[in-house]
Amino acid sequence: MENKLYFYNTLTKKVEQFIPREDGKVSMYTCGPTVYHYAHIGNLRSYIVEDLLEKTLRYLGYDVKRVMNITDVGHLSSDADTGEDKMLKGARREHKTVMEIAKFYTDAFFNDCGKLNIKTPDVVEPATNCISEFIHVIQTLLEKGYAYESGGNIYFDTSKLKEYYVLSNQSEKELLVGVREDVEEDGNKRNQSDFVLWFTKSKFDDQELKWESPWGTGYPGWHIECSCISMKNLGEYMDIHCGGVDNIFPHHTNEIAQSEAYLGHKWCNYWFHINHLNDKSGKTGEPAKMSKSSGEFLTVSLLESKGYHPLAYRLFCIQSHYRKPMEFSYEVLDNMGAAYDKLVKRIGTLKKEGEVDKGQFAEYKEAFQAALCDDLNFSMALTVLYDMLKSEMSDATKYALAESFDEVLSLDLTTAHAAKQEAQRVDAALERYILEKIEERKAAKKERDFAKADAIRAELLEKGIALEDTREGVKWKCVK
Ligand code: AMP
Ligand code: ZN
Repeated sequence: MENKLYFYNTLTKKVEQFIPREDGKVSMYTCGPTVYHYAHIGNLRSYIVEDLLEKTLRYLGYDVKRVMNITDVGHLSSDADTGEDKMLKGARREHKTVMEIAKFYTDAFFNDCGKLNIKTPDVVEPATNCISEFIHVIQTLLEKGYAYESGGNIYFDTSKLKEYYVLSNQSEKELLVGVREDVEEDGNKRNQSDFVLWFTKSKFDDQELKWESPWGTGYPGWHIECSCISMKNLGEYMDIHCGGVDNIFPHHTNEIAQSEAYLGHKWCNYWFHINHLNDKSGKTGEPAKMSKSSGEFLTVSLLESKGYHPLAYRLFCIQSHYRKPMEFSYEVLDNMGAAYDKLVKRIGTLKKEGEVDKGQFAEYKEAFQAALCDDLNFSMALTVLYDMLKSEMSDATKYALAESFDEVLSLDLTTAHAAKQEAQRVDAALERYILEKIEERKAAKKERDFAKADAIRAELLEKGIALEDTREGVKWKCVK
């Protein structure tokens, strides 16, 4: 690789050069969504940044294999080991089965990802597909003395490790206070920081999904799924593991504990974390992590219904450095929407035909890559894009560069403007057609040809247009 990629590694707590285990190849794992509700745009910030990282690696010439799990069982509503299974909670709320909820929200998640141009990872695996793998790893941990049975559950024994808090700067004591605050103590644990690998005894007798295991009928803990799904698809080593910063503890800390105890060697070299999207849901209106349970539940569909283009939100995420918290406000989103429209219009009106200047192309591509390699400095990469558009190059060279940069940015830079114009053209043509039909129907009614009038109404309805006769005349609306 000509360009050396640097990013912040939570494991070493510094910005480091990325060197994969195998030359030119990258294995990457992403903690997937818990599919009990729609993803909010905070969750989607993490997935947008992970997508940008993957596309940066590919742009630099790496061959990437990326794996993601779908959490459809075992993630409790508290991040420790108590509380209700989030999936069960979703099923109760909507009077559906857990599997129906999982299917619905998995589809909704990928639909949102599609609108944000987030590529689907090479492998996507639901936790419920891998129960036998979980059981195998837990069994081995028991045999190796890293796990114990207590009160019907299987726990990981954190005291067996030389170092447990490998990802965190905080002292053990501080972390434990954090855990204790919102969680009742589990008397079965030998150590406060131990965590559940397999539940057979939960507070909730009606847990819908349960499987046979050597320790009784039950279900897996949340953390075990990511270790097993990554090992199943990427083998015993992995280059980059990603997630939001809230996953550092306990989720990723526990993943490392159990994976390395099972494997007997170091598992993953680079831990990549994305800071939160905050809203004003703090107790006194101060910025706090956007979550599904507090503040306005902001989804991609909600933004669309308010007239925002989903890619304006992607642009917002691109402009904000992944290690800094991002403050959500409609004002910023308005600005992003305007900036997005202006940008794609500028690129969409370039004349793409003509000679591309190879020297200038290489020079700007180099500057763009240098920004990416500098701890994923995407706002600098955007500056390179704007500078390039302002420069004295031919339209064809600018167009070719925009197309190239979009392999990473995925903002539909060269196609969005034409798509918008086409949509406007279709809208105008449809409106003309509807108005003609309304006139035809009026004429038919005047001639007391009610069959024809009804046929016109039905034909429009078939096309998703409903007519309504009001005092002010005939009104129409889209119903599809
Ligand atoms: P979940 O569906 O809750 O398991 O979360 C899916 C992903 O979203 C994880 O990587 C979380 O770390 C991340 N995440 C959760 N809340 C936020 C937030 N407010 N901002 C950014 N990422 C988040
Ligand atoms: Zn995970």
